[in-house]
Amino acid sequence: MSRTSTSEEKNAICGGTLYLVSTPIGNLADLSERAIKVLAEVDFVAAEDTRNTGKLLAYLGISRPMVSYYEHNKKERGPQIVARLLAGESCALCSDAGTPAISDPGEDLVALCAENHVPVTAIPGCCAAITALTLSGLPTSRFTFEGFLPVEKTKRRARLEAIARGDATMILYEAPHKLRTTLDDLSAALGADRPVALCRELTKRNEEILRTTLGEAVTHYAQNEPRGEYVLILGGGTYIAPTSDKSAARLALSPAEHVAYYEKSGLSRMDAIKAAAKERGIPKNELYRQVNVDKNG
Ligand code: SAM
Repeated sequence: MSRTSTSEEKNAICGGTLYLVSTPIGNLADLSERAIKVLAEVDFVAAEDTRNTGKLLAYLGISRPMVSYYEHNKKERGPQIVARLLAGESCALCSDAGTPAISDPGEDLVALCAENHVPVTAIPGCCAAITALTLSGLPTSRFTFEGFLPVEKTKRRARLEAIARGDATMILYEAPHKLRTTLDDLSAALGADRPVALCRELTKRNEEILRTTLGEAVTHYAQNEPRGEYVLILGGGTYIAPTSDKSAARLALSPAEHVAYYEKSGLSRMDAIKAAAKERGIPKNELYRQVNVDKNG
């Protein structure tokens, strides 16, 4: 049985508790007040990357003892941290960026705390996966988090097959130097028409959301170097793009605005008139006449 605490307790630092402190994924202003308070008051900070977290603490003018806790020392360091918690110290766990325990070794430390009945609480905040999902334009009512695809061949093939069967929206993390291979593999396994949103450099100056298909993303990145951090959001296997909704929005435009919409998307004036006329279900000449009536008042 695990313990819950009152809201009063939530605002005071409790000895013997592990605090999962979410940190910004690019924009320092996204750090919460509560996160700052916890970082300033805990007995020690366990950081996935002590340099990164050290910089964050220095920026905040906070000085706390720090230990490293990362993939390659988690087996020895995890029990040491839990021993200190059991002895009554409080600890803030920070991952490289974002929410601890999402695609990082924080998940093992939380499991170890649970096994040892050590209270764990969260200071919620940024998570690249959820930020990307909300920006993707794809359905958010059902989704699965896939993290990074396995690198090992057999495991990777099995995971791609499983992903291809998935009917909910899917979230994947990827490093820029592996993006092209991953897009090739996804396109081969799921088909070139599968919708994807490539969410890059979220909350940073060069934030970019590319809403496209896997086939077009492969072509795009054959010509453009992948740069920065990426989250890929894939439409589920049964996802059908709501084209009727999109055209409904265009049909609410005036005839001139409708033609201008297609011109802005790169079509010539003649092709824009053709596309808009087709969508409005009227002959080209009639649309041309309506555009001129619009223009001349
Ligand atoms: N725990 C983190 C979280 O809550 O999002 C994720 C850690 S995982 C090791 C790092 C991956 O998150 C990156 O490779 C990238 O896929 C994604 N990521 C982190 N920050 C990002 C950002 N600003 N924009 C896009 N993706 C980001």
